[in-house]
Amino acid sequence: MNLASYACDSALSRGRRIPELVAPTRSDFQRDRDRIVHSTAFRRLVYKTQVFLNHEGDLFRTRLTHSLEVAQLGRSIARTLRLNEDLVEAIALAHDLGHTPYGHAGQDALNACLKQHNPHSAGFEHNLQSLRVVDTLEERYPQFDGLNLAFETREGILKHCSRRNARHIDAREPGGVARRFVDQTGADPVWRQPSLEAQLANLADEIAYNAHDMDDGVRSGLLSLEQLEDVPLFSRFRRETLGVHPALGGRRLLFETIRRMLSAQVYDVIDATGLALQAAAPADVDAVRQHPALVCFSSQMAMESASLKGFLLQNLYRHPQVVRTTQAAQQVVRDLFEVYLSDPAQMPQAHLDRFGGPAAAPATAAKPERIVADYIAGMTDRFATKEHERLKGHAIFT
Ligand code: MG
Repeated sequence: MNLASYACDSALSRGRRIPELVAPTRSDFQRDRDRIVHSTAFRRLVYKTQVFLNHEGDLFRTRLTHSLEVAQLGRSIARTLRLNEDLVEAIALAHDLGHTPYGHAGQDALNACLKQHNPHSAGFEHNLQSLRVVDTLEERYPQFDGLNLAFETREGILKHCSRRNARHIDAREPGGVARRFVDQTGADPVWRQPSLEAQLANLADEIAYNAHDMDDGVRSGLLSLEQLEDVPLFSRFRRETLGVHPALGGRRLLFETIRRMLSAQVYDVIDATGLALQAAAPADVDAVRQHPALVCFSSQMAMESASLKGFLLQNLYRHPQVVRTTQAAQQVVRDLFEVYLSDPAQMPQAHLDRFGGPAAAPATAAKPERIVADYIAGMTDRFATKEHERLKGHAIFT
């Protein structure tokens, strides 16, 4: 890999929490990517909701196909910018590992349950949960909990974090992955951003979901091609497509429009980020961390992307049909939380073992409500639905 000086070089990694020997044929970031792909949490992504619930159709994006699309976009931009492709891929594949079943609806419900149960609770944040999965919750290796990933991969996974949770993490790991979310007054140097690879995985996430949610929205019948004409980015590339293929219609017109839109966004990020890097000329990764975000769209594309996002929020994520399933999903999560908390024996033994006593590993010991939240967060849509039916005696999705 011909890396730029400001890219993350695995040979200069800040390392793993528990030191390990370097693998003979793979870099640390390749190894992280491989550990993520082999994890249980990764396999669960295939049955977790992106926007449409898993049982609503076989062709909609799931968290797994979404994560693969993010990795694809991230890698191709990284290669051109001479960033570390393996690191971008590892972050992209892990970025959604902490998502609950039923997408954002599940997360909101779980967050509300935790806060209702204990007003002082730190609540539920999916980025932090992704970090918990790779740091603690995966149980595969004899020597450590979690996957023991490299600092740079973990830094990228913790995309957002409340200040309060950041303080907790920073107390355990001073100057570590949560440092940039802690109030850094007086700190030297001040960390504003993660690596360019992490910034890129983040922007690739946005590019991917904006595009595929349009596609899934039309596939579901909740969005029409006519409606999408109101979105400047879409109408521009639809016109461009029709200019070249005047007879094109239906699905192929939709796909070709989205394909052109995606590729324009990729080139836009490459150009705008290239200019930003030229102007800032960061000497190395630490200089990148001290600089405001460098991976970016041009201002025109940023505006168009924001307007597409606003359109999807109004017309798809808040569509009455999506909201209806959202409410049912939230009911499932609330019911599961209540049942497990009052009758923990309904959970499998491995989760009961975390409740304390001599069998509990100190690293994974946690409050009962957190153990319940971890269990629910790990569920796939269909497992949560089945489990709800078993415990409540009726089906909630009809
Ligand atoms: Mg995502």
